[in-house]
Amino acid sequence: MQQIIQSQRDFFKTNTTKDINYRKQQLQKFENVLKANEQLMYDAIYKDFKKSEFETFTTELALIYNDIKEAKKSVKKWSRKRRKRTNLINQPGKSYVFAEPLGVSLIIGAWNYPYLLSFAPVISAMVAGCTIILKPSEVPTNTSSAIAKIVNENFEANYFKVVEGGIPETTALLNEKFDKIFFTGSTTVGKIVYQAAAKHLTPVTLELGGKCPAIISSDCNLKIVAKRLVWSKFINAGQTCLAPDYILVEKGFENELLSALKKEIENSNYNPKNNNFVQIIDQKNFDRLISLIDKDNIYFGGNYNIHERIIEPTILNNVSLEDKVMQEEIFGPILPVISYKNIEDTIAYIKSNPRPLSCYYFGKNAQLKNKVLTEISFGGGCINDAVMHISNSHFSFGGVGSSGIGSYHGIAGFRAFTHFKSILERPTWFELKLKYYPLTKKKMKMIKTLFRISS
Ligand code: NAD
Repeated sequence: MQQIIQSQRDFFKTNTTKDINYRKQQLQKFENVLKANEQLMYDAIYKDFKKSEFETFTTELALIYNDIKEAKKSVKKWSRKRRKRTNLINQPGKSYVFAEPLGVSLIIGAWNYPYLLSFAPVISAMVAGCTIILKPSEVPTNTSSAIAKIVNENFEANYFKVVEGGIPETTALLNEKFDKIFFTGSTTVGKIVYQAAAKHLTPVTLELGGKCPAIISSDCNLKIVAKRLVWSKFINAGQTCLAPDYILVEKGFENELLSALKKEIENSNYNPKNNNFVQIIDQKNFDRLISLIDKDNIYFGGNYNIHERIIEPTILNNVSLEDKVMQEEIFGPILPVISYKNIEDTIAYIKSNPRPLSCYYFGKNAQLKNKVLTEISFGGGCINDAVMHISNSHFSFGGVGSSGIGSYHGIAGFRAFTHFKSILERPTWFELKLKYYPLTKKKMKMIKTLFRISS
């Protein structure tokens, strides 16, 4: 690992990656390599947790291709020297901000969208001009090998290298010095990564998890809401960091919502009869999820197959805030529905917990919508939808507080891997003598005037 890191450091020092054309070429090459290996990726992910081609394309590859397209189109614009105004005291002079890639980057991925969560930060690093060591999640083993094969057979290790492995390998990597660490995963491991980065003062982006609430008002468009909730919750068997973790529904409206959700599941791709479920990733997570289903609270579903590692879309009713299912991020196809009497208590409850990655409000009332947006702190979200904000490449994506530090996708991704140097350029034909000896009261007064500070 030390050798690879050193070779990347040496390569970075040649300034090759700073060339805009080089970055464009690498982005294009990356796109070509991914397109040529789509079948390999589909086969690997199906072996790991039965994720279909359709879901893999729509929730991973489409977003990756979209990010590459935007990066290729914008690399020149984003990297441009940006003019700034020059203040009075520095006249005559020119001011600008100069973008430089941070250097050798380490990207650590999570398992739930293994291609997207590995490759989207890679695109950000490429467009910024960094070299890349990627450590995909080891949990989906076939996917991890496919990622390693695709990258290591097509890119030079001194520019872009995949290192496979679990905790020991990641720990070894984290002991080394990088110029940027980009991590996606749990809040617990995020803290380990942050501590390791602190030893070298390495800047980090942390894309973490949490419990994302969905608040449902009785004035919502129920038919559409049920459709959007069911899709966003049960896609990838609920193993989505942005999925609505639990529902808070206005009291008196819960029965209507529950029956609409049930009807929608039965009419959807997630109907147990279709038997085309994405599997729970491993036995550990399967057992954890089963332990969150309180049989007394099942409104719909609740069946599972331990051999196949599948759990039916499950809706829990009459859940209390003290129940086990409300104490941790669910990350599976279990949806607790809790009713609320007033919006103030609902907001207070969400605020008493760690800041979520996303929050969703479904309803027509503009006042309530604004209350949710202004009073609750969260990474990002939707009004009358869920999850879909990730698909808008004009947005930056990231958490806040325990759901993350920093953001990426599009220009935010470029910024995450870039340092911006502020440069003041002065001519030498003029020099104001104010700051030089002798230091007089009159000079001080003039300095105040130049800084526009009143006495
Ligand atoms: P995880 O934290 O267990 O693992 C993430 C990565 O960290 C893996 O590559 C793993 O090998 C490595 N790792 C695990 N333990 C480690 C340790 N002790 N030391 C060093 N490295 C270690 O997370 P996961 O199970 O892969 O993913 C699920 C979590 O990620 C959920 O909390 C989910 O919400 C979150 N997530 C967040 C986003 C986001 O964009 N914010 C996206 C996907 C998942």
